[in-house]
Amino acid sequence: MSVIDELLRANEAYAARFTKASLALPPGRKVAIVACMDARLDPARALGLEEGDAHVIRNAGGRVVEALRSLAISQALLGTEAVVIVHHTDCGMLTFTDDGIRQKLRQTRSADADHVAFLPFSDLDQSVRDDIAVYRSSPLVRKDIPVRGFIYDVRTGKLREVEAGQA
Ligand code: ZN
Repeated sequence: MSVIDELLRANEAYAARFTKASLALPPGRKVAIVACMDARLDPARALGLEEGDAHVIRNAGGRVVEALRSLAISQALLGTEAVVIVHHTDCGMLTFTDDGIRQKLRQTRSADADHVAFLPFSDLDQSVRDDIAVYRSSPLVRKDIPVRGFIYDVRTGKLREVEAGQA
């Protein structure tokens, strides 16, 4: 069985015991989470979220610049009023450079990615501070709500807050 077929089988079981048909569209706990897509990080389990609770916006690195469109929609149309940014230890974004991945895409796909910023980073704490600064500098999102950044430890499951510092 392919992995996608395995997912479909799991979904049948999920739907068979599904009881949340009447959830509202806006997130019940009025929070949006921007998190890395890393497979070891499960925001719902790590943060105690249920269906209907939160927007979880994920991408490689949990970079805010790539999440601004979603955050603007989340806040302006769906009423979220807190933002949590979650990067994590041992992140893949620490392991490559823009030049490196551009070269790889050129070799393997004949793709010109010179105009793409893949947003890797070399300092984990700084990457969180940078993303809080990106948030603060965007006119699309609210400045009157809590925005806090964290590093999730993939060895312990714990979150550690990164102080924003001067934006
Ligand atoms: Zn990551």
